[in-house]
Amino acid sequence: AAPSAMAMEDCCVKVAVHIRPLIGDEKLQACKDCVAVVSGKPQVQLGTHSFTFDHVYGSTGTPSSAMFEECVSPLVDGLFQGYNATVLAYGQTGSGKTYTMGSGCKDGGQTGLIPQAMTALFNKIESLKHQIEFQLHVSFIEILKEEVRDLLDPNSSNKSDTTANGGQNGKVNIPGKPPIQIRETSNGVITLAGSTECSVQTLKEMADCLEHGSLSRATGSTNMNNQSSRSHAIFTITVEQIRKGDANSSESMGDEYLCAKLHLVDLAGSERAKRTGSDGMRFKEGVHINKGLLALGNVISALGDDKKRKEGAHVPYRDSKLTRLLQDSLGGNSRTVMIACVSPADINAEETLNTLKYANRAR
Ligand code: ADP
Ligand code: MG
Repeated sequence: AAPSAMAMEDCCVKVAVHIRPLIGDEKLQACKDCVAVVSGKPQVQLGTHSFTFDHVYGSTGTPSSAMFEECVSPLVDGLFQGYNATVLAYGQTGSGKTYTMGSGCKDGGQTGLIPQAMTALFNKIESLKHQIEFQLHVSFIEILKEEVRDLLDPNSSNKSDTTANGGQNGKVNIPGKPPIQIRETSNGVITLAGSTECSVQTLKEMADCLEHGSLSRATGSTNMNNQSSRSHAIFTITVEQIRKGDANSSESMGDEYLCAKLHLVDLAGSERAKRTGSDGMRFKEGVHINKGLLALGNVISALGDDKKRKEGAHVPYRDSKLTRLLQDSLGGNSRTVMIACVSPADINAEETLNTLKYANRAR
């Protein structure tokens, strides 16, 4: 069904920029800070370039709770009305994506967006659980070279879901375990067939899933030439609610069922997704360019183009596993926030500019 006019207004993508502080290595190289935030405005300057976003979080003193409150908290609330949502962390390797999401093993433990989203979710459930029955599931997968890997597979110590790479890189193939497939139901719901869906009751159980999957991702990447920078990690929380109908009311429609999911995505490093092409609007695909990032840029830009959208223009979800998986949670009635992560260091200026351009195109 075509989304309503209201939903159309909602479906635009919000874009925030997160500028991390200079880190040890950059300080050792005596890097200069080359990214300026225009005071009082969500505007970033890099050399002669200037970009305006929905929000900018600078390297100095913005509490991480502000980013959560402004960017993610509304999406968590929307789950309770049945709206799917996606949070995407975009940027070059080392720009702070994993730190921002809190999907790594070492830092961002409490301050990352995922831990904050989980806490907010359980607080809200606590306040509603007397009227509504909740069921929560999480999945955690990684997309690497257009293959889906289950990060929560309990039967694998070296989580591999496919035989396509035939034992390469020390991967252990599980005999008989079919690869994870992205499927679409007749009413447009995207499902991941074959991935582990953990049923969770408590915040602790959900946090354990996040930690378990993060460790699995890190373990897998050590002997794989740092593949974590080339893979997309997607932590998905599914909230099902059953609101009991009031048996005494003549207006009661009976039980009400709602289901919504929140995807929290730590994207692959953007360093190879260069923007080319004379029209400046289409990402050209090169040998090493990450397919998912290309397709994501094209999908988001198609969604953001009011004119195209009203004409019912084609949105190229099917161009990659990433966009296919996120299809029912990008555009339409769903809410999307992209957080563009950048390093302030002058040595990264070129990549930072690419990131700001990509993020700017998403608006
Ligand atoms: P990415 O996931 O984009 O490759 P990371 O999240 O791993 O980048 O961050 C790279 C390094 O920068 C890590 O050592 C991390 O601890 C540090 N870092 C990232 N963001 C911040 C921040 N906001 N404050 C302090 N350190 C940060
Ligand atoms: Mg990372």
